[in-house]
Amino acid sequence: MTAHILDGKKLAAEIRVEVKKGVAEMKATTGTVPGLAVVLVGDNPASKVYVGQKEKACLEAGFASFLHRLPASTPQGELLGLIERLNGDPSVHGILVQLPLPPQIDPDMVIAAIKPEKDVDGFHPVNVGRLMAGLPCCEPCTPKGIMRLLEETGLPIEGKEAVIIGRSNIVGKPVALMLLSKSATVTICHSKTRDLATHARRADILVAAIGKPRFVTADMVKEGAVVIDVGINRLDEGLVGDVDYGPVSEKASWITPVPGGVGPMTIAMLLENTLHQARKPEA
Ligand code: NAD
Repeated sequence: MTAHILDGKKLAAEIRVEVKKGVAEMKATTGTVPGLAVVLVGDNPASKVYVGQKEKACLEAGFASFLHRLPASTPQGELLGLIERLNGDPSVHGILVQLPLPPQIDPDMVIAAIKPEKDVDGFHPVNVGRLMAGLPCCEPCTPKGIMRLLEETGLPIEGKEAVIIGRSNIVGKPVALMLLSKSATVTICHSKTRDLATHARRADILVAAIGKPRFVTADMVKEGAVVIDVGINRLDEGLVGDVDYGPVSEKASWITPVPGGVGPMTIAMLLENTLHQARKPEA
């Protein structure tokens, strides 16, 4: 079997057109321009790239974009002060603090300081708790993008074996909850899992969010599985995912490429979340 490609770039572009329409409609009907504040602390090269992509996407969609660049030496109190000001600024509907943060800053304190109604990453404990409880919430962008990609396959999720490799708060755990809410039977594997390949081979839906280039090899994949590669690994040869794309695409029914799979969907979901927060009366 040769896999169909789950084209995240194409789907993300379609979603961005819809968001742009939504922004224009909001401007026309309420006079409000949805605004996203992005805070970048320090000079992490990957963070700079991500922030640049997010700002460009924001402007293209018609949002107001407020970029705050702070030096790596910024004390925590100063960052918390900025967040407090952004929380109270009516032109700001979404606040995103790019992670990772320098060591003197506690990311959990920073995330908790953002008003849940202005959280667009879905990392605030209130939104995390609401996701856990199955209540409406701001869903984290990467897992939300993964679910949209799965929808694109047209395959039912109910009753399927879903195996997620990786248990991070930003990808592995939330995508597990979302798959569970769609009635998949979910297994979360991680660095201490024994006999990982046996778990992986059971998967109808296999999500790799590890951060190790080409970790998932063809022998770990069931014939016909849907394979979602979240990994972004920068090698001399360029960007590669956590999945050994060539051989795995000979076995999978659907597969996301890297680049052009989950990555563009993450940004599209950020735009959707920002528009959603701006539409809420309390934002
Ligand atoms: P993380 O470093 O927080 O977590 C990695 C997870 O992989 C951990 O839970 C760990 O237990 C697991 N792991 C590590 N080694 C393992 C092993 N040998 N066997 C099994 N599990 C193992 O990572 P993260 O933030 O979830 O990101 C994972 C990858 O996804 C990274 O490459 C990251 O760059 C990428 N990412 C991409 C997007 C996107 O938009 N495409 C968004 C977020 C993260």
